[in-house]
Amino acid sequence: MLRVTGNGLYCEAGDFYVDPWCPVDRAVITHAHSDHAHWGCKAYLCSEECRGVLRARMGPDAVIQTAAWGAPVLFDGVHVSFHPAGHILGSAQVRIESDGEVWVVSGDYKLEHDRTCRPFEPVRCHTFITESTFGLPIYRWRPQPEIFSELNAWWRGNQENGKASVLFAYALGKAQRLLAGVDPSIGPIFCHGAVEKLNRVYRDAGIDLPQTAYAGAVEKGYDWSRALIVAPPSGNANPYLRRFGTVSTGFASGWMRIRGTRRRRSIDHGFVLSDHADWPGLLSAIEATGAQCVMVTHGYRAPLVRWLCERGLDAKALETRFEGERDESEATVDSAEAFE
Ligand SMILES: [Zn+2]
Ligand SMILES: [Zn+2]
Repeated sequence: MLRVTGNGLYCEAGDFYVDPWCPVDRAVITHAHSDHAHWGCKAYLCSEECRGVLRARMGPDAVIQTAAWGAPVLFDGVHVSFHPAGHILGSAQVRIESDGEVWVVSGDYKLEHDRTCRPFEPVRCHTFITESTFGLPIYRWRPQPEIFSELNAWWRGNQENGKASVLFAYALGKAQRLLAGVDPSIGPIFCHGAVEKLNRVYRDAGIDLPQTAYAGAVEKGYDWSRALIVAPPSGNANPYLRRFGTVSTGFASGWMRIRGTRRRRSIDHGFVLSDHADWPGLLSAIEATGAQCVMVTHGYRAPLVRWLCERGLDAKALETRFEGERDESEATVDSAEAFE
C-alpha cells in the first residue's frame, strides 16, 4: 500500500505521500517537526490539533487541511485517518485503509504521560511502520516525576549559588513539556524567542502552561540569579548566555542517557527526558497493533528488526530520511561511541 520513493513514503492508490522529504502535491503529515513536515508542498493534511504548530512552521500561505481524530478522509477510495501518537501537540499516527487492508504509519511516538498532548492510542492494523529512534534495550526511561524533581532541585540549587538556570531543549514539544512539568513557584520563567512563539500556539490550543516571559525583552541590569531560562540547543553559545551573568546550563534529551553527550556539549547537568518511546515502549506499542508485518524507520533499526523476526513477525528495516529531532540527531556520534 505504501512504498518508499525518492520523495518519501508514497501511497499510489490514493496518490499522496506521508511525511514526504521533498515538496509534493499532497502531503499527509504526522507532526510538525522538520524531519516530518517538509516545506513547499502544495497541500498538507494533518490532525486538527496539529494545525497551529504546522501553521507556525509553514507560514500564512501554506494550504493546510485538517481532520478530527479518527475521522476518515477519502483519497480515491483510500481512507486516511489520524490517531494520537503522544509525541508533541497534534502528533498523529496515520491509518490508511484500502480494500480491507490496514496500514498504520506511527510517526514519532511515546507512551509516557504528557499533559501537553493526547496520549498514544494503539490502532489495530496488518502492517505497522514504526519509528525506532531509541530502539535498543539499554533505553529505559526513568519515571518522569524523578526527572522533574531533579530539575526542580537543580533550579533551587542554582538560586542558592546565585546562578541563573539555563535549560536547553528542542523548541517545539520538549520545551513545552518541561514548562508543564517544572514547579513554577520556585522563581520566574523566561524563554528564548523561538520557544515563546510556540508557547503561544500551545496556549491557543488550550494547553495550560505556567506564566513565561520573552527573555529578549528584559531590561539591562536585571538580576537573573533566581530565573529559569528555556532556550533551544542553538542558544548554547557565549553571546546568548553572556546576558544572564553567572549561569548553570542543563539539557533535556533522551540522548542524555549516553555518557559523553553532556561532556561534549559542555553542559553542567543532563536530564534524560525523551519524546520518543523507549525499548519497552516500542515493544508494547508494536504488540498492541496486532500487526503481522512491521517496518522500522529512524535510528537503531537492525536490533529491533532482529528481535521482532525472532518472535515470528515479518519485520524489516525501511530506509527513510526521518532522522530524529535536530537536538537528538546531533548527538548520534556520541551514542555510537558509547557502544564501543
Ligand atoms: Zn518528532
Ligand atoms: Zn522523527
